[in-house]
Amino acid sequence: MGKSLFDKVFEKHTVARLPSGQYQLLMGLHLIHEVTSPQAFSMLKERGLSVAYPNRTFATVDHIIPTSSQLRPFGDTLAEQMLVALEKNVQRHNIRYFAPERGEQGIVHVVGPEAGLTQPGMTICCGDSHTSTHGAFGAIAFGIGTSQVRDVLATQTLSMNKLTVRRVVIDGQLRPGVTAKDVILYVIHRLGVNGGVGHAYEYAGSTIEQMSMDERMTVCNMSIEGGARCGYVNPDQTTYDYLRGRQYAPAGEAFSRAVEYWESIKSDPDADYFDVVHFQAADIEPMVTWGITPGQSVAIGDRLPDPEAFPEADREGIVEAYRYMDLKPGAPMLGQHIDVAFIGSCTNGRLSDFEAVVRAIESKDLHVASHVQALVVPGSQLVRQQMMERRWDEVFTRAGFEFREAGCSMCLAMNPDKLQGNQVSASSSNRNFKGRQGSPSGRTLLMSPLMVAAAAFEGKVADARRLFDLNH
Ligand code: SF4
Repeated sequence: MGKSLFDKVFEKHTVARLPSGQYQLLMGLHLIHEVTSPQAFSMLKERGLSVAYPNRTFATVDHIIPTSSQLRPFGDTLAEQMLVALEKNVQRHNIRYFAPERGEQGIVHVVGPEAGLTQPGMTICCGDSHTSTHGAFGAIAFGIGTSQVRDVLATQTLSMNKLTVRRVVIDGQLRPGVTAKDVILYVIHRLGVNGGVGHAYEYAGSTIEQMSMDERMTVCNMSIEGGARCGYVNPDQTTYDYLRGRQYAPAGEAFSRAVEYWESIKSDPDADYFDVVHFQAADIEPMVTWGITPGQSVAIGDRLPDPEAFPEADREGIVEAYRYMDLKPGAPMLGQHIDVAFIGSCTNGRLSDFEAVVRAIESKDLHVASHVQALVVPGSQLVRQQMMERRWDEVFTRAGFEFREAGCSMCLAMNPDKLQGNQVSASSSNRNFKGRQGSPSGRTLLMSPLMVAAAAFEGKVADARRLFDLNH
């Protein structure tokens, strides 16, 4: 019986089996940011420890950075203090820092791949749940908590249980207007938000093979929302083409040797999986969440589900979701009112996400509805720069969007970009939990960037395919 990529990479990085039964795993790459690192650095200082492998540790600032202006000092004193703490820590420990003043800053899961740090066969961790993003390259990548950030800083290792692997196969051509975001929302809808608990998701099939790296990152990013601790795609030519020439990717002869290694860690054709599930791309429609978990979603043309249609154990949560969202079973998803539209985040804040929207809107004379605040927030300063070189900032601004600086922004609203009161947001981010976007009663509808743009123009949930003539 052959092995999956997960098993091969896990075994190659196992340092020891611990008395607890857990494994001690060497981390090839540790990405840090301003929110989950200060306490970890303080704990290190208290114990008189230094960072074990500063050359395998990379830092950026993303969660708290304002997107209206990055001028220092920030208006928010706490945010300023957090950034100052990060700056001191990276300096003290000689850690490479992607600084805003050098135009290198961005969301941790955008800048890592952009710089070529994320490579196949690696173990990667970061104090952010959506570290699963990096699995798009055939890495196994885990979100970790603050005490684990401390452990990795001090030892470059992480103790963890071994996961089983579920192969999620999606085959066929996606229909026009259906995106990678719809694919992962559909997978989570079908397998449930706890379906992946104890598993790594290996995404495969012709739909995934045809995806760009940006699209694969969107899919892997939300693995954690389906309960999977990590998700990955086996590396292929698309992966290698993306990596070639990037700052931290191997160069020259070393690149060819690296490709040989990367090929060797791919899942074997007879690999042993926990199970294999199959989906057809043709069955996937643009998806929108209506509830308070990413699994509570419907296809755009569907009506909201009857709580009685769910297993009895789930019904209380469904009723609670309806109460919080102030929605009614049986109502159409199409036409639900929105107040805010947000295109950005580590799920959908890359160049191709904005390109899809620009291509859809540039031939049209559309303007954001007068009651909607619409934000376009690039995932990194590099993405922002590339957008400006293409004059997409002008396209968005003309259409009524606010074109912002790079950061996490309204994904988690740890900066000034927050919903107010019980506003409803059409969002390209990854979580729709209660209060996720900054207001304790704010409501989030997750969807693709194309669908967010359509909602921004209509002032309500709309079918992007119809509005942008995408021929379905
Ligand atoms: S965009 Fe959201 S999920 Fe991604 S790193 Fe920032 S806060 Fe976390």
